[in-house]
Amino acid sequence: MKENPQGLQDKNWIIDQMLANNGSINYCVRWNHSGNSTATARASTVKALQHSLQKWFDVLVGFEGFPLTTMNVDVVGYAVKNKNLLEGDVSGLDVYTTTDGDGVPECDPHCYRAIHLDGDMSQCPGGKESRYDISLWLDESLTGDIGGYGYNWGQELSPTYFLGNVDSDNIHILLHEMGHGFGLLGMCLLSIQSRLADGYLDFYDWVPQGQTSFIMMAGSAMEITEFDAWMLRDWYRKLKAARGW
Ligand SMILES: [Zn+2]
Repeated sequence: MKENPQGLQDKNWIIDQMLANNGSINYCVRWNHSGNSTATARASTVKALQHSLQKWFDVLVGFEGFPLTTMNVDVVGYAVKNKNLLEGDVSGLDVYTTTDGDGVPECDPHCYRAIHLDGDMSQCPGGKESRYDISLWLDESLTGDIGGYGYNWGQELSPTYFLGNVDSDNIHILLHEMGHGFGLLGMCLLSIQSRLADGYLDFYDWVPQGQTSFIMMAGSAMEITEFDAWMLRDWYRKLKAARGW
């Protein structure tokens, strides 16, 4: 609360997204990568996002009146530099070739829930079906020292890392960045060394007392631990009180 005093005012944390959509989370992928996207990799990507987000979701089910028991992740769109990068069948996907101010492929902001919190998708060309809540941003500029970035807009990862680990049970950098999307603070050992933040929610000057291994302390755990689970439950409890859920 001290590090992010405006946190409760933000209505777009992943829990907000889940509750607003009755458990449906739609991703749009920003493919800032010169390699091709195969149909197999796209199918694995949906599974990996479902499997990983489910791990966080599951710690909330049954806790303090959390109202959902199931959660479904879909990927509804891809933003690419060139449509030819998408191999195979792309029916059912929104394909975008527009870019943001930095030249990075961008999914249509008209279809982005965060800027249409009233649910009005009338400006989105595909309508409600094309709504996305969050992005997976695969960016080939991310290599080596920086594992990723995360916030409630989504997770930014190296395509080599993500696609190379897409079938893993614990894609630990993805799990960490998802944690930031829920609003959890993290601690990044690399960030401390280089003063580069992977999210906007890292705490630099202290470690929670008695805790040495948890996914939000990057590099110290490869999976969501009980401490991570209780941080999320505690945050849900605060959101619940603030939102009147
Ligand atoms: Zn972090």
